[in-house]
Amino acid sequence: MDCIFCKMVNKEIESETLFETDTLFAVRDIAPQAPTHLLIIPKKHYRNLLDCKDNELLSEMLMTAATLAEKEGVAKSGFRTVINTNEDGGQTVFHLHMHVLGGKPQTGRMG
Ligand code: 5GP
Ligand code: ZN
Repeated sequence: MDCIFCKMVNKEIESETLFETDTLFAVRDIAPQAPTHLLIIPKKHYRNLLDCKDNELLSEMLMTAATLAEKEGVAKSGFRTVINTNEDGGQTVFHLHMHVLGGKPQTGRMG
């Protein structure tokens, strides 16, 4: 499948993994919108949030966001978690992922 995040999972393209479990991994966004901009990506391909009915995975993604925000030192100052879905949501990569943004105030338009 021609999916950039699946290619990361399959090691067809290189990526520096910050954190990994059996079901997900986290990398730094290639075009960071904040000093800390991480992506939490399930290893299994879901097109987006509408395509994923896995409670456990969605819960793990949120818990991982909190854990990584602590690790990055942005938990206390604050951070934003974002999942973009389809065109109006601003989704550009059609493999479910969650953004974690921190290290500067997140104001105005989200994402
Ligand atoms: P979306 O707009 O779909 O919510 O977010 C996709 C994100 O993936 C964007 O913030 C974009 O910068 C990031 N991205 C796209 N290609 C790559 C890549 O090859 N590596 C990494 N680390 N991030 C990527
Ligand atoms: Zn994929």
